[in-house]
Amino acid sequence: MNKFEYLEKYGYEELVYFYDKETGLKAITCIHDTTLGPALGGTRIWNYSSEEEAVLDALRLARGMTYKNSAAGLNLGGGKTVIIGDADKIKSEAFFRSFGRYVESLNGRYITAEDVNTTTKDMEYINMETNHVVGLAGKSGNPSPITALGAFHGIRAGIKYKFGTDDISKFTYAIQGVGQTGGYLLDYLMEAKAKKIYYTDINPKNINKIKAVYKDAIFVKPEEIYSLDVDVFVPCALGAILNDETIPTIKAKVIAGTSNNVLKDEDKHGKMIMDKGILYAPDFVVNAGGVINVYHEIHGYNKEIVMKDVEKIYDRLLDIFEIATEHNVPTQQAAKLFAEQRIEKIHNVHRNYLGKK
Ligand code: NAD
Repeated sequence: MNKFEYLEKYGYEELVYFYDKETGLKAITCIHDTTLGPALGGTRIWNYSSEEEAVLDALRLARGMTYKNSAAGLNLGGGKTVIIGDADKIKSEAFFRSFGRYVESLNGRYITAEDVNTTTKDMEYINMETNHVVGLAGKSGNPSPITALGAFHGIRAGIKYKFGTDDISKFTYAIQGVGQTGGYLLDYLMEAKAKKIYYTDINPKNINKIKAVYKDAIFVKPEEIYSLDVDVFVPCALGAILNDETIPTIKAKVIAGTSNNVLKDEDKHGKMIMDKGILYAPDFVVNAGGVINVYHEIHGYNKEIVMKDVEKIYDRLLDIFEIATEHNVPTQQAAKLFAEQRIEKIHNVHRNYLGKK
């Protein structure tokens, strides 16, 4: 992979490697675009099989955050950090404080938060070294429940547009991944009396948690989740799972969940889904609840205002579905147009975020 070619192709600003010998920290922070404000995006820990895989994930996720923050109407740019390693083995106070010092070195151009395999407690350690971290306990807290709530409104918008009603109880669902966001989303769907819920995961701890609480929810093997005869497929695990192999097997008519970068190839797979008559709720719009939540932390947190802002995901998606229908383009493309238009307008005012004096 030629990194500069990739940076040039998609207009990235910065790609940084952080290494700390004492703690074994290997972090890659990517800042995609700061036209709208400081780049905000969570820190993910994953046991990547190669450095290249980790870099590519950081690049893809950071760009996704630019679109997400713009489409959500926030004054934030897009960024992301991936940390290479086994989350069960590498975490410690020293590890996160070391990372916090590196975040501080970026002088506010990048603000971090939780993501896959990082928690509020980890953010507290980071906060001992830098103020450029959100999602702290006692402030907006863990973003996962709000992300899940946003996706719940996204599912409502999806079924409304596809089937003409947003009554959750009339439909069936297949949830891929019942971790932090998928678990809460399953709670919301259960609360709204979903007709039937299937779910899968690869982590026995998370599976057992659901089994213990919901006797009616049906567990299926990971490879079975795509082809179930359900109305809504709900991806809440990892990215790139909608691809050449999985899309032909999907029977659901609506796809909406919390996962980032779900389409392996945005253009190709967005079109394949559209051609199959499936309504896809663009990931960065439907999973913006968490970022809307933490954004309010920067400017003074008020839960009521946050909930109202998160509910706007419903109307925003209906608008995007309409744009897609009008122009006969995949919904992901319609959502990107929506996000890019806002960045372009502000671009005329200022090009990048330099930190406040
Ligand atoms: P998580 O790690 O808590 O949950 C993910 C779950 O998916 C885990 O239980 C994991 O075991 C499971 N999983 C992984 N691979 C799987 C597979 N092949 N088949 C089935 N299950 C599998 O993470 P999360 O915080 O819930 O995040 C899930 C997705 O949502 C990610 O793409 C993340 O970027 C995105 N997201 C999260 C937030 C948030 O607030 N946490 C916000 C926006 C987007």
